[in-house]
Amino acid sequence: MDLGLKGRKAIVCAASKGLGRGTAEALAGEGVDLVINARTADELQATAGTIETEYGVSVTPVAGDITTPEGRDAVLQACPEPDILVNNAGGPPPGDFKEFGLDDWRRAVEGNMITPLALIHATVYGMMDRGFGRIVNITSFSVKAPIPTLELSNGARAGLTGAVAALSRKVAHRNVTINSVLPGAHATDRLRTNMAAGAKKHGVDVEAFTEARANDIPAHRFGTPEEFGAVCAFLCSDKAGFITGQNIVVDGGAINATL
Ligand code: NAP
Repeated sequence: MDLGLKGRKAIVCAASKGLGRGTAEALAGEGVDLVINARTADELQATAGTIETEYGVSVTPVAGDITTPEGRDAVLQACPEPDILVNNAGGPPPGDFKEFGLDDWRRAVEGNMITPLALIHATVYGMMDRGFGRIVNITSFSVKAPIPTLELSNGARAGLTGAVAALSRKVAHRNVTINSVLPGAHATDRLRTNMAAGAKKHGVDVEAFTEARANDIPAHRFGTPEEFGAVCAFLCSDKAGFITGQNIVVDGGAINATL
């Protein structure tokens, strides 16, 4: 299927690896020129070079922390009029409500709610004027099934979800859509780190621990950044113009629910 995206311009945040990179690659495969971002400059540069060579699109790396005003300004300066915005960043740390201070909550809300809202605010009205726009927020399946150890993430991401619900309906008549994609467990560096920590905590072998966690998922495996990216790219496509305000779960069936 031709997604009708050739020649479009996208900002993909937090995209040197993992789900952001999977999304950047899927868009590049459809002929989209990219501005990609992450904090670690050399890793980001290497990813940009690989994508550019593999897909023959223009890829501009902009190193910086996307949760800061400076990081966001640098990305927007490199691509002031994107057709596509993919919001992504690292998630807040785990912990327990009892230990969290207000600054922990402020950081979580800044990173996973205010940052995407700031980027949406800076780009959505231009998209409306131009008559095309696709915004995808990478959030988490915790929006639908809160994770006990990730209260900061549950709260901040649910806040973003609520904030864009009304906006997505206000901009749809100008062919601008806003959707969120909710990953379940995907095989990325972040997941590998979590598996190593979990195995250590339970005093078990990391491979056995990882296999057991994968088998808890109805698909009996973790997702891949490639298949996650393909879902995001479809939502960014010409073909997905009638899908807006949705929260699409990509979790191999892990959430046992019909809605
Ligand atoms: P990952 O493999 O660790 O990759 C994270 C990417 O984001 C890297 O490119 C990292 O590069 C960049 N990044 C992190 N913080 C950043 C910041 N403040 N500014 C700019 N770039 C930043 O992680 P992932 O698994 O793809 O996860 C992506 C998001 O999905 C996270 O919010 C995570 O919580 C969420 N999620 C993941 C899973 C999963 O199973 N993988 C499940 C549910 C939710 P630098 O470190 O160089 O900045």
